[in-house]
Amino acid sequence: MSKIETLCVQGGYTPANGEPRQIPIVQSTTFRYETSEAMAKLFDLEASGYFYTRLQNPTNDTVAAKICQMEGGTAAMLTSSGQAANFFAVFNIASTGDHVVASSTIYGGTFNLFSVTMKRMGIDFTFVAPDADEEELNAAFRPNTKAMFGETIANPALTVLDIEKFAKVAHAHGVPLIVDNTFATPVGCRPFEWGADIVTHSTTKYMDGHGAAVGGCIVDSGKFDWTAYPDKFPGLCTPDESYHGVTYTERFGLGGAFITKATAQLMRDFGAIQSPQNAFLLNLGLESLHVRMKRHCENGLAMARFLQANEHVSHVTYCDLPGDKYHEVAKKYLPGGSCGVVSFTVKGGRKAAENFMKHLKLIAIETHVADARSCCLHPASSTHRQMTDEELRACGVSPDLVRLSCGIENIDDLIADVKQALEAAHKE
Ligand SMILES: *Cc1c(COP(=O)(O)O)cnc(C)c1O
Repeated sequence: MSKIETLCVQGGYTPANGEPRQIPIVQSTTFRYETSEAMAKLFDLEASGYFYTRLQNPTNDTVAAKICQMEGGTAAMLTSSGQAANFFAVFNIASTGDHVVASSTIYGGTFNLFSVTMKRMGIDFTFVAPDADEEELNAAFRPNTKAMFGETIANPALTVLDIEKFAKVAHAHGVPLIVDNTFATPVGCRPFEWGADIVTHSTTKYMDGHGAAVGGCIVDSGKFDWTAYPDKFPGLCTPDESYHGVTYTERFGLGGAFITKATAQLMRDFGAIQSPQNAFLLNLGLESLHVRMKRHCENGLAMARFLQANEHVSHVTYCDLPGDKYHEVAKKYLPGGSCGVVSFTVKGGRKAAENFMKHLKLIAIETHVADARSCCLHPASSTHRQMTDEELRACGVSPDLVRLSCGIENIDDLIADVKQALEAAHKE
């Protein structure tokens, strides 16, 4: 198999003689057939082909195939957003009355999806610390647990998941490990190599990388044997009456069952499809992902080192820094570097952090991360502003915390901007 850099550029699409070099945008909601019988075969999942873009579109499939190869999976699908990807990945195997174990430091949007919205659907979640030991992880499981969930590098907590440990525990309880690999990207870490079974992405972040298109992706490793636990995963192992009695594991094998079911049922019914235009933009981002990630990581580490040595900064969180709580785990899973996101606390509390933000010139204030352009966020006065200082502390976001996403600009310019803003904030 080709190396990751080659897959970023050329994966998923090999044009035949005379075909377009760049992937075509199939901007069509529907597809024409000569006979009703031919279309009926598609509706029955007896033949593969396109009939309506809510279910599948050739541009989307090409880009999903590239991400599938990059992750080393067997099947993949694009979704309209990272939120949709995580919802589908879990809801594909968990229903009312079921239970899921998830890391407590996951992205706030996912935390809310799980603890509020999916709870309303009757699915219970138990949250465990990402650094919990095996005994604590085991204790979170119940007979009705259907999956375990975590993020390779958590946004914005920047904890690093011990994927092997989580996979081992999940498998001991007969459930798959789902890993949101958004911040690491397959350039930094391929969770399947460490035992994860399903990978999800918010492609909105580094994969697109240019702040141009919201999107998501789900990839299946094809390694989890659903048929070993038919009672636990009836949706994959027993006939689907809404598809003329097809049994996904029988018809599509372990490599295709999960994604086919998520497409045929969840995409059909919820309709969270990515637009082919956005899939095209995402593919442009993927073509340079390996080059950009290298620079994001270099800039992140240089910025973290600068901040650590700065007199106006009280603490820096960045797993590539020796001494960081997750440094050893990061060395194992992210040997080439983690990402461009660094978080730090400013001496002088909430006011000093707000002043720092105000004085930034080059680095923009945005509710976004993982972009080619550096951006910065003060959670206490934006994403987390409804919370009291006490509530902030409970979820690990202190009032003086700043999240800085280092882009791919020149690092001297970035450091100069941060330096002058810290100095100006201190003088106020
Ligand atoms: C942003 C993000 C999401 C949600 O993705 P959207 O594309 O914004 O819906 C999920 N997981 C992680 C780790 C994220 O950073």
